[in-house]
Amino acid sequence: MEILIGRDEKSGKMKLTAEGRSVLFGTGRLPNSVLPEHLKLTIDDSSIRLKNLNINAYTYVNGLAVENKTISKDDKIEIGTDHVSFDWRALDEFIPAEVDIHPLQAIWNTFENENIALQIAERKFNTLRSTTGIITMAAIALSIATGGKSHWYFVLYGIAIVVSVVFFIKAYRDSSKMPQKRQELNRAFQRDYVCPHCGHFLGNQSYEILTQNSHCPYCKAKFIH
Ligand SMILES: [Zn+2]
Repeated sequence: MEILIGRDEKSGKMKLTAEGRSVLFGTGRLPNSVLPEHLKLTIDDSSIRLKNLNINAYTYVNGLAVENKTISKDDKIEIGTDHVSFDWRALDEFIPAEVDIHPLQAIWNTFENENIALQIAERKFNTLRSTTGIITMAAIALSIATGGKSHWYFVLYGIAIVVSVVFFIKAYRDSSKMPQKRQELNRAFQRDYVCPHCGHFLGNQSYEILTQNSHCPYCKAKFIH
């Protein structure tokens, strides 16, 4: 495939043309040192060949000016004497990148497990708190059963009060801790559960659903798993 690269004279953006269609890439205007027909990339399965299209077209590979050179995606390409960095993602439209999304599986599993652990912690805590009521009820039942003659219900009342205070303090502390934990978990997830190619957050969809999609909805990179 041959891809012609230059500056679109109307918008000033980078223009890539291949197989009879053109796309614009990037934001902002390129300097005039990027010519409207600047260079050509010839891409096949094994190599990428770069060629300047004009005597006034300057292109740099890893800092050195070149006319005609075989390059790879690891090379740093700069276009024009203003050294405009070439972003390889500009080629995505014509040659979709392939990305291994397998590392996202562990990130999803961690998120899901920690979410469940948080839910269990919240439920356990609510169950514990309800024991205060049970102890109080037992004290009342005992006082009725013994006609108020037993002193044990005072003890039970005492325990109920102490337990209530303990749980009140714990509830007060957790009321800020739990949402904070949840927020940290969500933040880490949104930072890490991203397309390895474009870095876009992939949303709250499980890894299994991701594997059913053939490509990234944002950059069109092909998912490999
Ligand atoms: Zn992407």
